[in-house]
Amino acid sequence: MAEEQCLFCSIVAGDIPADIVFESDTAIAFRDINPQAPTHVIIIPRKHVATINDLETGDEGIVGSLFSAAKEIAAEEELSEAGYRTVMNCNKAAGQSVFHIHLHLLGGRLFAWPPG
Ligand code: 5GP
Ligand code: ZN
Repeated sequence: MAEEQCLFCSIVAGDIPADIVFESDTAIAFRDINPQAPTHVIIIPRKHVATINDLETGDEGIVGSLFSAAKEIAAEEELSEAGYRTVMNCNKAAGQSVFHIHLHLLGGRLFAWPPG
């Protein structure tokens, strides 16, 4: 299931260290190495899926689990009431740079809309 040369698969495997804040059977989450907000957590499925375009029938549960994780982490980080942003970039035009799907959880400041 793990993809060779995939940075986030290496974090799932424990081969590359990360500041892990959440783990479940299907997902893990860790602090972004280059945070764009006071809280910036990356939530990923344990399963390697390169982009949203590569999701398969049957992956709905793992994608849902990313949002369940976001809810828990936001509560832990005391962001629930003030609000926070979740973002998943797909391919180059959206700025995806790591090709293992991930939900960004950003909080602790105000966010503009529309996004840049
Ligand atoms: P993308 O641009 O693909 O939507 O988001 C990738 C995110 O992964 C970026 O915010 C980037 O800072 C983060 N990132 C890249 N390499 C590492 C790493 O080795 N460790 C951690 N914790 N985050 C990383
Ligand atoms: Zn991967």
